[in-house]
Amino acid sequence: MTLRPGSGRDLRPGSELAPAVFLDRDGTMIDDVGYLDSLSRVAFYPWTVDAIRALNRAALPVVVVTNQSGIARGLFSEAFVDETHRYLDERLAAAGARVEAYYYCPHHPKGTVAQYARGCECRKPGRGMIDQAARDLGLDPARSFVVGDKWLDVQLGLVVGARAILVRTGMGAAEERQPPDGVAADAVVDNLAAAASWIIGSLKSAV
Ligand SMILES: [Mg+2]
Ligand SMILES: [Zn+2]
Repeated sequence: MTLRPGSGRDLRPGSELAPAVFLDRDGTMIDDVGYLDSLSRVAFYPWTVDAIRALNRAALPVVVVTNQSGIARGLFSEAFVDETHRYLDERLAAAGARVEAYYYCPHHPKGTVAQYARGCECRKPGRGMIDQAARDLGLDPARSFVVGDKWLDVQLGLVVGARAILVRTGMGAAEERQPPDGVAADAVVDNLAAAASWIIGSLKSAV
């Protein structure tokens, strides 16, 4: 897990913990190209920047939580993942959108790189990345939202008591056809733009 350098400001207004949007990366923000191992393969969906900006305007911090087992499999380095997140940040900033922090899990039990080849608390649907973000940024997971293209993203949302949204981009359309027993999303929508609208709408209806 890492926090973006220079981030980590406390988002609490007074003593209240803030809600946030925890966003999956591959298949949700950007095209899922398998194991992303080159910046030349990064492709934002056309609506991603606008959706994140809309969440920013709604005063919801956006935090990326992503499983990157390619590190454990020796396909790319932590430094490359950090570089990728800096690149995403530059692209977002150029359009006035902001991700508060990026967390990734580098582990996998069947990894080939010894230091990462283990079970862990941070690999989704484990809650380690969200718990870390909550501590770092003063967030309340139970008032938050998790958005992703896999049921493990939805499961993560359920585990932390957040509302969970499955998007049909990436693996989402295939995932939608094969729901695991006992796992239901609060919403299944076409893409991140629709997820952002659903989230913002649910905040308004809660007031
Ligand atoms: Mg994904
Ligand atoms: Zn991990």
